[in-house]
Amino acid sequence: MQPETHLRILDFPDALALVLDHAGKLTARPAPERLALLATQGRTLAEAVAADRPQPPFDRSTRDGFATQAASVQQGAAAQVIGQVRAGEIWQGAALLPGQAVEVMTGAPIPAGADCVVMLEHVLDEEPSGLRRVHLAEGRSIHAGENVVPCGSEARAGEVLLPTGTRMGAAEIAIAAACGRATLQVFARPRIAVIATGDELVEVEDSPLPHQIRNSNSYALATQIAAAGAEAIRQPVAQDTCEALLASIRAARACDLLLLTGGVSMGKYDLVEAVLLELGAEFFFTGVRMQPGKPVVFGRLPGTADRPPQYFFGLPGNPVSTQVTFLLFAAPLLRALCGERQQQPRFVQATLAEPLRTKTGLTRFLPALLHYDLHTPTVRQVPWQGSGDQAANARANGYLVVPPDRETLAAGEPVTVLLQ
Ligand code: AMP
Ligand code: MG
Repeated sequence: MQPETHLRILDFPDALALVLDHAGKLTARPAPERLALLATQGRTLAEAVAADRPQPPFDRSTRDGFATQAASVQQGAAAQVIGQVRAGEIWQGAALLPGQAVEVMTGAPIPAGADCVVMLEHVLDEEPSGLRRVHLAEGRSIHAGENVVPCGSEARAGEVLLPTGTRMGAAEIAIAAACGRATLQVFARPRIAVIATGDELVEVEDSPLPHQIRNSNSYALATQIAAAGAEAIRQPVAQDTCEALLASIRAARACDLLLLTGGVSMGKYDLVEAVLLELGAEFFFTGVRMQPGKPVVFGRLPGTADRPPQYFFGLPGNPVSTQVTFLLFAAPLLRALCGERQQQPRFVQATLAEPLRTKTGLTRFLPALLHYDLHTPTVRQVPWQGSGDQAANARANGYLVVPPDRETLAAGEPVTVLLQ
């Protein structure tokens, strides 16, 4: 039997704070790689992206209309239209004088001398004597600066728009494109070892005997790891023997993080902790007052001459527990290894659609369906049979968080939801 001095059971908020504290001190892998812009999607910047020129690069019209001086069309005055500028052109004439206007299109640079753009829809456009003139329509007004975005007002040249550690999505890739960055340096993807443990497990390609279970956790974790921006190294299933576990954990030593599933409960063949202990592990927690996920283990294996210390999580084998504890604990550490600055799990608030009852004592993460309504996002629990219920889990899109002191929640209450 393992010595029990390493045992440490925490309340959920303390466990999360502890993981985030470790994550905050981690650095990304060295040796960033340079990728083509589109290939950076989901990756984390290893360099800053700065504006290569002012944004916008000229005083830009936000409307189709007439660039002029606001004063030229006040009090019923009309301005004479002396030309036009399309997007992609530049006004070749002299700076506009009072009383002059130039027709401009959305996105065009406004001519020097103009201080506003009067919207096409707001003017009367006349050609009484061959001279084209515009004046404001009844009830319309204009002031200097209207419908013009001044040069450099969105970003100054040299201003950092994406700091190191930014995760690349559509908006980030777009601004990098706007700054002329066809390639970018991103942090190398951390390699995350996934070891499913259990004598009952067979692989997805195999036909299970009636008492056997298909290994689905490795697939859940590989998907969650990829979504977090890292690379999953799925190892073969490890049997519930010390020798098999030792060999499997040793084979994963080159990875940046070790995720084990199963074998962390109190059973006779739950040997993961004992084997880690034998390898000299330091345990930060060996259980959390939460459900699902109570037996979750977090710790670190000592470094060697040629390897840095290696963090590990022993995630409970029940599939919902595995996925919830990944989201709450493993994902933040993994994002830190990716070099990302935003590490914490994603919680949102929603209105509870139906009352619910549970037991006190543990923080609950109940599979739930969140409706992303425009006005009031609502959430309801998905009926489930407990932490092994993968079917219910697949009908959910988040987890309703119930604090440990709450036995009942009323419909209409604001509640916290963990997003997947
Ligand atoms: P354990 O944490 O090893 O006690 O396992 C708890 C439950 O989760 C048992 O019913 C296991 O059969 C199941 N389980 C463990 N590992 C996996 C896995 N990789 N895929 C699917 N189910 C699993
Ligand atoms: Mg097991």
